[in-house]
Amino acid sequence: DDGWATTRFVVLGFGTAGYACADSLLQAGAEHVVVLDDRDNEQLQEKAQILGTLGAEIKLGPGSTAELPADVEIVVTSPGIAPHSPLHTAAAERGVPIWSEIELAWRLRDPANAAPWLCITGTNGKTTTVQMLTAILTAAGHRAVAAGNVGLPLLEAVMDPEPYDVIAVELSSYQLHYSSSLSPHSAAVLNVAPDHLDWHGSLAAYAADKGRIYTNCQVACVYNVADSATEKLVEDADVVEGCRAIGFTLGTPGLSMVGLVDEYLVDRAFVEQRATSALELATLADITPAAPHNVANALAAAALARSFGVPAAAVRDGLRGFRPDAHRIAHVGEVAGVNYVDDSKATNPHAAQASLLAYEHVVWIAGGQAKGATFDELVVAARERLRGVVLLGQDKAVIAEALARHAPEVPVIVVGSTDTGAMETVVGEATKLAQVGDTVLLAPGCASWDMFANYGARGDAFTEAVNRLGS
Ligand code: ADP
Repeated sequence: DDGWATTRFVVLGFGTAGYACADSLLQAGAEHVVVLDDRDNEQLQEKAQILGTLGAEIKLGPGSTAELPADVEIVVTSPGIAPHSPLHTAAAERGVPIWSEIELAWRLRDPANAAPWLCITGTNGKTTTVQMLTAILTAAGHRAVAAGNVGLPLLEAVMDPEPYDVIAVELSSYQLHYSSSLSPHSAAVLNVAPDHLDWHGSLAAYAADKGRIYTNCQVACVYNVADSATEKLVEDADVVEGCRAIGFTLGTPGLSMVGLVDEYLVDRAFVEQRATSALELATLADITPAAPHNVANALAAAALARSFGVPAAAVRDGLRGFRPDAHRIAHVGEVAGVNYVDDSKATNPHAAQASLLAYEHVVWIAGGQAKGATFDELVVAARERLRGVVLLGQDKAVIAEALARHAPEVPVIVVGSTDTGAMETVVGEATKLAQVGDTVLLAPGCASWDMFANYGARGDAFTEAVNRLGS
């Protein structure tokens, strides 16, 4: 398509995503590709050299993003760049379309043998659900891959010379903000809770961006029956004619839903002709961990797989062998009758609340960077279960105040230290609060960057501290 050759592209940001976008554009035959990034270092220069020899023009260093080139026709942007950055504003004023990496990937697919996309977004559970879905599709014998924010970059997945049968795509609200022509086979919004509001501006804008995943959906819009915001997004979406709304629920499913009947995961949406009313897909024992929110993830993955024609037995086989990535409700060990669980990936209150509700008596370890979030709803929902709370990190006061307001009887220990040994103190204090049979749960509800390199390092520090308890 010589459209690629003549169009003048500007790629904003030269991180992993920006590099992949520029590289893919060149591979597609684009002859006018300019990449802009304010940063400059040896690593970027090395990458610039490679793309430079392939024909891209790379501008690095302060001032590089001061102005949008006059003749640009398409801007391809990176997730780190805020929607109101001067270059985005300039593009919008000039009527220049802005594409996410996802939009670019969709347009670069080879229409002759393009794999259908099963797309997932939501505030929490995206990665786990995409991986579950991939396991189910693989169990059904499909050549499937997890791509997007997890696994393979989507651009690589669509440009793979050996085409996939189907792609399970994790989409963030940032990427959806700048995507307009995707037409997923099926799509799911798992939940909508306040997060990243600094980027999107408001909860309404954030939810609307998530809802864009349903636009042009072909077969099934999968929503969370327990989260009415997701159903509303389906109602508001422009979908392909014949596309159905399919709910997932931890309760008894109605028609056009998947849900639970006793310990069975049951499909009442894609039942085969000969099945009279419902079809058993799997049992709770097939899901690890069987925490309620993870069962919800499994039901969402099952609904998407069923919309793609996957048989019930493959849903069961895929779920049975599946384990979530590290730091997602990972069982660390049992010491003196107390259970220790690492859910360091719970980086917002909605995620932390979901994990707290999976345990009867919990000593909760929380704190870090709250990103402007509030903890009142979580404390009200979880207070009956809290044996005690140990707080650490930058925004511990925000959580302490919510506890004082709604659960004044719960003992709270505040660990002021922020050095590398702090987690050992935290685990020691949590252990003192715990009784036999309790769970000590690291579910910080906050980002980790104030004290740790990332959520993984925070979870590792917790695990090491727990291991030292036992020895
Ligand atoms: P994401 O990719 O959206 O960040 P993950 O699958 O990595 O999601 O899970 C992140 C955290 O979110 C988990 O550690 C858990 O605390 C929480 N979580 C997972 N699934 C759900 C869900 N369906 N609802 C609420 N919280 C969830």
